[in-house]
Order: sequence, then structure tokens, then C-alpha cells
Amino acid sequence: MSNILLYAEVTKENFLHTVLFELAYKAQELSKKLDNADVSALLICKTGLAEEFKEAFINSGFDYVYIAEDDRLANYSTELYSKIAIDIIKEIKPEIILVGATTQGRDLAPRISASLHTGLTADCTGLDINEKGQLAATRPTFGGKLMATILCKTMPQMATVRPKVFKPAPENIVKDTKFIYIKPDIDNIKTKVEFIEFVKGLNTSINELDSAQIIVAGGKGLKNEAGFELLKNFAESIGGCVAASRGAVDMGLAPVDIQIGQTGKTVTPKLYIACGISGAIQHIVGMQESDKIIAINTDAKAPIFDICDCGYVGDAFEILPKLTKELNP
Ligand SMILES: Cc1cc2nc3c(=O)[nH]c(=O)nc-3n(C[C@H](O)[C@H](O)[C@H](O)COP(=O)(O)OP(=O)(O)OC[C@H]3O[C@@H](n4cnc5c(N)ncnc54)[C@H](O)[C@@H]3O)c2cc1C
Repeated sequence: MSNILLYAEVTKENFLHTVLFELAYKAQELSKKLDNADVSALLICKTGLAEEFKEAFINSGFDYVYIAEDDRLANYSTELYSKIAIDIIKEIKPEIILVGATTQGRDLAPRISASLHTGLTADCTGLDINEKGQLAATRPTFGGKLMATILCKTMPQMATVRPKVFKPAPENIVKDTKFIYIKPDIDNIKTKVEFIEFVKGLNTSINELDSAQIIVAGGKGLKNEAGFELLKNFAESIGGCVAASRGAVDMGLAPVDIQIGQTGKTVTPKLYIACGISGAIQHIVGMQESDKIIAINTDAKAPIFDICDCGYVGDAFEILPKLTKELNP
């Protein structure tokens, strides 16, 4: 019986990362094309936490959930988590492994694939099963100009998918989920990194951007730190999260964590306001599914105006302070 294994990431706030539910729904679709292959999850967390998630697993169509609990696993550790994941993968031999392309997933998945000498297709935008029963993982290539469908010659076939690329199931898929506790074999692992504390950068942690209703993104047109300060003030005044184009990240105006686009994050807020962003295809692919898009740009011919719902041709340095004042009299 084939088996699709999903990595169930626990956020630092001790929630299941929402990407799991997006992958779970996709895995149900893949399972049907593999004679109803089992859909399993691997959960690694601190002692006692798994109990809180059981209902979510039952309602998301999982057949099996493998749980490794230990107080040494309260915070993500590359060495400990990958050891546990590799041990369980060797035992249950899944054919397909799907991991969210979060900061944690991007660290864990390559380590697993390298250890197992198998391939990994990163940042997929489509997953399917081909006529030979292989995982067909599609992702953009050549700077977003082509879509490549990649097959893996080795087992397990691994892929990462960014949050918000797939949709979660519209309603519960209830199954008689079996929970299997495994004893983590980590006593002999010497970790090179010691967790001390989380320090939040900017006001936009990864999870906040993933679930933000309003995103205010700045590009190279904001020119300097003063420009980004105007952007942050405006975002704060309307309860939005700050994001950036790669242009702005490359200029050192924003951290890479908040970059939107092909090599950054994919977001789907209700409102996306792009300030001083030209609208290169590599940026567009990360925000085009937003409900409403507003663009502010001095160049009336900027491509961002082709995809926005409402555009303002003008200088962000003049418009942003006016908007901040207008909306917060
Ligand atoms: C493989 C690859 C992957 C990439 N991945 C990403 C990615 O993930 N995300 C991403 O964003 N890019 C990505 N890029 C880069 C992308 O091609 C663009 O170079 C980048 O998006 C441009 O950023 P920008 O719009 O901020 O800058 P620019 O293209 O320089 O645009 C700046 C805009 O600001 C406007 N402007 C100037 N002054 C003002 C002002 N005072 N007020 C208002 N507007 C003003 C200008 O008219 C211009 O349209 C990638 C490129 C490659 C090759």
C-alpha cells in the first residue's frame, strides 16, 4: 500500500501551520490517483501537545499520524527533527513526502532528501500523479518564464509547497485517524545550535504575513529608509503588514523574510497595496491572487497597473503621508 507523508509543522506559538491543511487537501486528490494511498502526517512537538491537534487531524482526512513528543523538541532543531523524520521515513517508506516551504520546511526537507539520497522539488505550484503513478511536481523555472514538471527517479519523491499555493478542503474530511506514538531516538545527537529566544523582526513574522488581510508592500521606488518609514507608518495606521519587492530587499530596505514573489512568499490578502513596485512577473506571481490590488507608482506605464484594481500615478513620498493623515484624522 502506498503512503503519502506530510510534515505537520508546529509554529512557535504552538499551532499547526496552516500549510498542513492545504497540503492535506491536495494529498487527498493525489491519494485517489494512487488507489487510495494512505495519507499520513508526521508531528514532532513537545510532550503533551499532540493531544490538542488530534481533532484537526481527524477532520483533515489523515489515515495515520506519527507523533514524536519530547520536551527537547519544544523548539525546532535541524539535527533533532531531521533525525526523527529520517528514522520514521525509513520505517514506513512513504512514496511521497510533502513539506510546507516555510522557513522550517525549507531547512528540514533538503536535509532529509540529502540523507536519503533522493530528489526534492522545491517551491512547487502544482502536484499531480502521472500515468505511471509518479509524482509530477510543477514549478516555475527560468525566472518564471517557463513551468517545469519534474519527476523524481528515486524514492521517496519529495516536494515543498509554499503556504497559500493550494487551498484547504472546503469542509471537513473526517477519517478514523490512527495516532501512533514513536519514541524519538535522539539521546546521542549533539546539537550544534542552542535555542535561546525568539526575537521578532519588523512587525511581520512569517505567519502574520501568511494570514494578513491587508499588506502594504514597498519597492525600489521608496528609495531609502525614510521611504520605508512612510510605508510602515501607513501600514500601521490601517492595520496592515509590511512586505517588500526583491528590489527593496536587495537595496537593504527590508529583510528577505518579507519579500513577496517567486523567490519570496505567496500571499492572498483581501487588500494588497503596492508602492513604488514596477510589477515584474517574479513579483506578480506572489501576490496576484489578492482580492483587491492598489498600486501607487510615478510611471503610468508600469506593468503593475495592468493587474491592479485601482491605480494612482504619483509620488509615494507625497501620497503615503497624505493617506496616513486622511485615514487617521
Ligand atoms: C529568478 C528571479 C527571481 C526573482 N524573484 C523575485 C521575487 O520573489 N520578488 C520580487 O519582487 N522580485 C523578484 N525578482 C526581481 C524582479 O525581476 C524585479 O527586478 C523586482 O521585482 C523589481 O523590484 P521593484 O519593483 O521594487 O523595482 P523596480 O523594477 O526598479 O521598480 C521600481 C518602481 O518604482 C517606481 N517609482 C520610482 N519612484 C517612485 C516614487 N517616488 N513613488 C512611486 N513609485 C516610484 C518606478 O516607476 C518603478 O516602476 C526576481 C528576479 C529573478 C531573475
